[in-house]
Amino acid sequence: MTVGIVRDDIYLQHITDDFHPENPRRLVSIYAMLDEMDKNGLVYVPARPATREELALNHDHNYVDMICGTKGKMQTRLDPDTVASPRSYEAACMAAGGFLELIDASMSGKIVNGFALVRPPGHHAESGRSMGFCIFNNIAVGARYLEKSYGLSRILIVDFDLHHGNGTQHSFYSERSVLYISTHQYPYYPGTGWYDEVGQGQGKGYTVNIPMSYGMNDADYLYAFREIVGPVSRLFKPEIVLVSAGFDTHGSDPLGGMAVTERGFAGMTKMLMEIASDCCGGKMLLALEGGYHVTALTNSVKTVIMEMKGTPLYDSDEGGEASAGAMQTVSKVKEAIKPYWSL
Ligand SMILES: [Zn+2]
Repeated sequence: MTVGIVRDDIYLQHITDDFHPENPRRLVSIYAMLDEMDKNGLVYVPARPATREELALNHDHNYVDMICGTKGKMQTRLDPDTVASPRSYEAACMAAGGFLELIDASMSGKIVNGFALVRPPGHHAESGRSMGFCIFNNIAVGARYLEKSYGLSRILIVDFDLHHGNGTQHSFYSERSVLYISTHQYPYYPGTGWYDEVGQGQGKGYTVNIPMSYGMNDADYLYAFREIVGPVSRLFKPEIVLVSAGFDTHGSDPLGGMAVTERGFAGMTKMLMEIASDCCGGKMLLALEGGYHVTALTNSVKTVIMEMKGTPLYDSDEGGEASAGAMQTVSKVKEAIKPYWSL
């Protein structure tokens, strides 16, 4: 399996405050891990900046211009949690563009799957607003690009970050060409992602929210994946699988209240690879979202890449018995999406 990797030192030039959880140290550590890793089966895909037109596939022109205006300025506060430093615009354009390059590499058959190890992250970014450490919505720009440049009409986005991807949900809420499935801690930031948010109009049923309670672990997440993510995705039959890969559900994460381990991330990755392999020749592309315990993040990313390469670090298992809470969550999700998906 050839895994495409996007990395670039420009992503270290988006400077937040030292005490900010989303800081360059996250990628410094991941890149050091990559340097140590056996390069067999890895191919580096060079990033490029997304163009203004590409960003505007998902973002308001005025918003793109406003972010462009932060170029060279010491610090611009974009939202209570989100800042731009002098080179943040450049980094954000390269984050979205890096993901687009990964898409091109996958669509042309150069790689099967891939991981864009970029920052700033993207899934909270709305079409006209920065939010929650995110500037441009890398995964949403990618999905729009797949529609426009490749004519795809069945794009699956799975978001296993701790937080709900409000920006991604809103981008595709009224559309059936993109199925958005998210697991996230609830109630929690940003407050969206309840069961009853299933899409609207044409898009009804094409947003699937799995709000997980505090403290859920590998078994609970794998159960939700087995019961909801897998079956709904297979009914949808995606032409490509995009993943908002956040690792703030890790038990060590300072922002999260979940108890997922490296083994759980391996299991989720394996299930997503199986969906991609059954539906779309294995095409699966990940974009890095959250994950704020640097060591846990690095180990988790390594585990995922090893899984993608076909050299897993863990024996496959189903994670044991899910909790009663997870079973209840899953049954509520099934109830909410029953009108749209016959599971
Ligand atoms: Zn997050």
